[in-house]
Amino acid sequence: MTKIALIGKTVDELKAVATELNMPSFTGKQIADWLYKKRIFSIDEMSNISVGNRQKLNELYEVGRTLPSHTAESVDGTKKYLFKTVDNNFIESVYIPEDDRNTLCVSSQVGCKMNCLFCMTGKQGFGAHLTAAEILSQILSIPEAEKLTNLVFMGMGEPLDNLPNLLRALEILTADYGYGWSPRRITVSTIGVIPKMKIFLETTNCHLAVSLHSPFAEERLKLMPIQKAYPAEEILKELRKHDFSHQRRVSFEYIMFDGLNDSLRHAVEMVRILKGIDCRVNLIRFHAIPGADLKTSNEEKMIFFRDYLTNNGITTTIRKSRGEDIFAACGMLSTMEKQKSKVE
Ligand code: SF4
Repeated sequence: MTKIALIGKTVDELKAVATELNMPSFTGKQIADWLYKKRIFSIDEMSNISVGNRQKLNELYEVGRTLPSHTAESVDGTKKYLFKTVDNNFIESVYIPEDDRNTLCVSSQVGCKMNCLFCMTGKQGFGAHLTAAEILSQILSIPEAEKLTNLVFMGMGEPLDNLPNLLRALEILTADYGYGWSPRRITVSTIGVIPKMKIFLETTNCHLAVSLHSPFAEERLKLMPIQKAYPAEEILKELRKHDFSHQRRVSFEYIMFDGLNDSLRHAVEMVRILKGIDCRVNLIRFHAIPGADLKTSNEEKMIFFRDYLTNNGITTTIRKSRGEDIFAACGMLSTMEKQKSKVE
C-alpha cells in the first residue's frame, strides 16, 4: 500500500490526522515541529510521541522526503539535483551559491503544458503536477538545505498551473508552524496565467516574476503560445491593479535571442509598455537546446539593452550565467535521465 506523505500537510491537517488516529489534537502540532523545524526523515524519530502512536502513524503515513538521485556540479559551484518522483519521472532543482545569498530554483511540475519554443521542459510535454510534498522535499532534502536564503519557483513547469499545491507549499514555507520563511525571499515565476496570477497576488506576499521575452504580441506568440489566451497587454493591465512600490516586487524575465528581440525597437517598446509599473527587468542569456534554431544575443547587445532600459527608468540587470557546464537549460538533465531509463 502506498503510504501518504505527512510533509505538505498544514498544521490543521496534521491535527486532523492525529485525531483520526485517536491521538490528542496537539500531537498534530508536535508532528509539524518534527517535520518542518527538526526536519526528520522518519516517523520513528518523533521521540515525544509514544511508540504506540508512532506505530499507528507508520501504518498509513510516511514523512515523504526524497533524497536527490543524481547531482551534477558546475565549476562555478552551481549544483543541479535530480529527484525521482513517485511515478518514476525526473525533476530538477538547481542550487546557486553567490556571495551574499544561496538560492534554490525549485520545480513545480513534471514537464510542462505550455510549450514555449525555447524550453527543454516544454519539449517533454506535461507529465504531472508535483504534490506539495514533492515541492517541499526539493527544498528540504538537498545537502545545502540549511544554507538556503532564497527560493525561486523557476524550475520545471509553470508554477501557477499547479496553483493548489503551490499555495499549499508556500503556506507551509512561510507559516510560523512551518519553515517561517519571509515571503520576501520567495519568488514565483509565471508566463502569465492571468486568473491564477490574480489569486496568487491576492493570497500570498511572495514576489512575482513574469516571463515577457518580447514586447510585441505577434513575436511573443511565436515564442510563447500562451500569448493567445493571455496576451501580455492583459497581464500588464492586471499587474497595474496591484501595488509593487513597497516590499513586494514584480520583475519581468526577458531571454535575449539574437536578432529576435534584442533591437532598439524592442527596447523602446519595452519602456513604453512597462511605463507606470514599479518593476525591474532581468535579461537572461539563452542556453541552447537541441531542436531549437535560436541563439543568444551577444554581450554588446545585452549591455545596450540593459543601459537603454535603465536610462529610461527601468532597473535592469543581466543575470549571471551559472552552471553552463552542467546542462544549464532547464529540463536538459531530466530529459537525458528519462531517455536513459527508457534504454535500460
Ligand atoms: S518556459 Fe516555463 S512555462 Fe514555458 S514551457 Fe518551459 S517550463 Fe513551461
